[in-house]
Amino acid sequence: MSMRRPLVAGNWKMNGLKATVAEFARIAEGYDAGLRAKADLMICPPATLLSTLAVVALGSHVGIGAQDCHAKASGAHTGDISAEMIADTGASAVIVGHSERRADHHESDAMVHAKAEAAWRAGLLAVICVGETRTEREAGAALDVVRGQLAGSLPAGATAANTVIAYEPVWAIGTGLTPTLADIAQMHGDMRAVLLARFGAEGAGMRLLYGGSVKPDNAREILGVADVDGALVGGASLTADTFLPIARAY
Ligand code: PEP
Repeated sequence: MSMRRPLVAGNWKMNGLKATVAEFARIAEGYDAGLRAKADLMICPPATLLSTLAVVALGSHVGIGAQDCHAKASGAHTGDISAEMIADTGASAVIVGHSERRADHHESDAMVHAKAEAAWRAGLLAVICVGETRTEREAGAALDVVRGQLAGSLPAGATAANTVIAYEPVWAIGTGLTPTLADIAQMHGDMRAVLLARFGAEGAGMRLLYGGSVKPDNAREILGVADVDGALVGGASLTADTFLPIARAY
């Protein structure tokens, strides 16, 4: 029996308006005592909805996270949001290093590293994303790429309590494609070995999420893979009807 409590997190990306708050309320309503006994649930809405959802989530036990933060606490950084501001909304976590940030905003491992430290500075859980591209997997480099990202993106202060790692193969995000269960098992096993070697018991306790086209119909088999401690869900997290069944796979 694993000491790691599963986490099913939803990444809403650039989706969600005021009208979407009702959908979040349905998710919170469905997170009943039976489900709470099995897994943590979290939604990461766009920054515009953080404060509202943090209030709606009160008493529901659904965690609220942001999708990115700036490394600095404040200053002349137009359009950016600091980890302190995220904490101020009532949110408790932030995703850093999502592949869409790495690709669209040229975020390097060093930047992700700084953002993870910013998250901890503000008392937030850092959900650090890693994952190879299709070209890298086809070249047989997936394990090496992810090892490199872990080495570069994870600060020395990472613990089981302040960090969650999400393995998200870029080619599986939003495509309906997923790695084989054997490939997921191999990657998660390799990541666990890396974390154990570097962080010891903290590495053993760190949760490793799989992300990339997780849906109600493949959740059970993916969440059943060794060293998969939950999921980071994009598209299927936008409605209660698709998100809750994923969590109920536990
Ligand atoms: C994601 O981008 O975090 C993700 C996993 O997206 P999807 O579930 O839509 O593939």
